[in-house]
Amino acid sequence: MKYFDYRSPDGDIAKNARVSAVGFGGMRFPVNEDKSINYDAAKALIDRAYEAGINYYDTAYPYHGGKSEGFFAEALAEYPRESYYLADKLPLWLVEDVSEVRKFFNEQLERCKTDYFDFYLCHAFTQARFEKMTELGVIDELEKLKAEGKIKRLGFSFHDTPVALEAILKGHKWDFGQIQYNYLDYTMQDAKRLEELLNEYNVPFLIMEPVRGGALVNVPEAGKKLLENEEGRSVPSYAMRFAMSASGVFCVLSGMKDFDALNDNIKTCESFREVSAEERVTLQKVADIIISARLLPCTECRYCEGCPAGIAIPETLKLYNTYMTTEDKGALRASVDKLAARPVACIACGACTSVCPQHIDIPEAMKTLAKLTEKKQ
Ligand code: SF4
Ligand code: SF4
Repeated sequence: MKYFDYRSPDGDIAKNARVSAVGFGGMRFPVNEDKSINYDAAKALIDRAYEAGINYYDTAYPYHGGKSEGFFAEALAEYPRESYYLADKLPLWLVEDVSEVRKFFNEQLERCKTDYFDFYLCHAFTQARFEKMTELGVIDELEKLKAEGKIKRLGFSFHDTPVALEAILKGHKWDFGQIQYNYLDYTMQDAKRLEELLNEYNVPFLIMEPVRGGALVNVPEAGKKLLENEEGRSVPSYAMRFAMSASGVFCVLSGMKDFDALNDNIKTCESFREVSAEERVTLQKVADIIISARLLPCTECRYCEGCPAGIAIPETLKLYNTYMTTEDKGALRASVDKLAARPVACIACGACTSVCPQHIDIPEAMKTLAKLTEKKQ
């Protein structure tokens, strides 16, 4: 296993940590037909990850409908608590008063069956949320929990612009950050600038969405061809290595839903070498191919859940992306026929776009799909 040394920005050596280069994200466990976590399948993955040396486990209040935290508690119970790092996040969108911080925090401790979190994050900061939380006294309250030893390191996950990131970095002394970073977003969503800013402010960071919710696994054929190699390196391994090569990164999170993904990540860590200048040029070309294929950057985070028209948004956007790469209208129509709610049912209420961290114009995508699949239009 490859490890990174996390060094606390405040110089407190007690907070330093040796973190596995890949961390286990708790958002995409294997599930049963009713969408509940398939305990046996997910537990087997955790056991393999732990045995391979993965020591960072990342969960959050809403993952898997609130069941991810409890799953980790059960799955990791047999391992000494001090042998792994557990990360959890405060659901900021549910916090309207400072008194709610401890309410959620204590509930999370209970769900996770632990007394403390090694890493604790303000979940999904935008500049507006940061300002609101500062005003409510939420960040001061989290600092108190840190002083009480219940939070070892305090940070934030982030979905906004570089200007917003700078305001957040200026506004508080953070132990770490967490950003979306991959070779598609490097230029497309200014991830390069986010990396530079975190380094300027000396804040170590984690990376989420290294394979862009699968977009850098299922790359178009022309991109795959560019990544063919004699060493047996997989397509996603390039994305993982790109993320692990970022300056200031101390862990790359991956939501591994099967053994193929997990074993591939372990192999990538064990044979790690930084991406070369030549590989960077190739990856930029692959990114250009993906962008030109007009794929929507949905990461399947499911923040948009609860569409009033009953549309399963990430699944429907996946059909959109498949169509954009294959242009197979027949297959698209057949897939749409199987959906519980068709894209044409979209009433363009905008509820989904307002919460989508990728800023996808979802109603517009639904309109395009409706045109392609409704005979009368
Ligand atoms: S805009 Fe359309 S897809 Fe989005 S929540 Fe509203 S009805 Fe659903
Ligand atoms: S459409 Fe946006 S909010 Fe919904 S799953 Fe995709 S990335 Fe997440």
